[in-house]
Amino acid sequence: MISIKGLYKRFDQLEVLKGIDLEVEKGKVVVVIGPSGSGKTTLLRCLNILETPTSGSIEIEDQTLDFSSSVSKKAIPPFRRLTGMVFQSYNLFPHMTALENVMEGPITVKKESKEAVRKKAEQLLSKVGLGDKLDYYPFQLSGGQQQRVGIARALAMEPKVMLFDEPTSALDPELVGEVLKVMKDLANEGMTMIVVTHEMRFAREAADEVIFMDGGFIVERGKPEDMFTSPKEERTKQFLRLIQ
Ligand code: ATP
Repeated sequence: MISIKGLYKRFDQLEVLKGIDLEVEKGKVVVVIGPSGSGKTTLLRCLNILETPTSGSIEIEDQTLDFSSSVSKKAIPPFRRLTGMVFQSYNLFPHMTALENVMEGPITVKKESKEAVRKKAEQLLSKVGLGDKLDYYPFQLSGGQQQRVGIARALAMEPKVMLFDEPTSALDPELVGEVLKVMKDLANEGMTMIVVTHEMRFAREAADEVIFMDGGFIVERGKPEDMFTSPKEERTKQFLRLIQ
């Protein structure tokens, strides 16, 4: 489903990803953990081509971009549509209602008919528990509600994979649960997901695999029950001691 091979990313002199190899099967949930600056966000942004990898290849659902040779600009938009991204800071359009935010992508990017998109957007907003907030603007919604709109907006593009970049980090603690619940429901429905998060409970309860990154490398990976109870690498042990 997803196959990342030898992925490198450098910003000027700073090499942030130093040869990432990762396979994710369809329907699996992978949680990425690691200290600040280890390259977690950069990895997600490379999968969505918000950052252009320096070298290496990414395959998603039989479509491959190989950055070790030149990648045609034309190949990027369809590849980007394979993934949906949910950001820490929601990134909703402030002048659009929840419904309009969710409808925007399918109408402008996919050129779908407004009527069909409206129906789909209403269903998605109901699914994330916001069926009664269709006409609310972002400023009228709590952070947790805004983030759920963000998830509905990403789903409206019908991606094959959902990427979450610390989706609950900006939320007040009492609002974290409602967002994690929506994410767990998605996981249970079989969505393939890569989630960067500090929510270890989510990792324990929803992840098929946990990946520990440090210094631009995947240091260790394993099932949550193994990673959290008996990590093998010293760096993983140290990190888990700090956050648990
Ligand atoms: P955090 O948990 O703090 O979000 P992270 O593991 O997600 O950290 P990244 O955000 O991927 O780490 O950043 C890794 C390194 O790359 C950091 O040193 C960061 O300063 C650097 N970096 C990220 N984006 C850029 C950029 N656009 N230009 C230059 N340096 C960058």
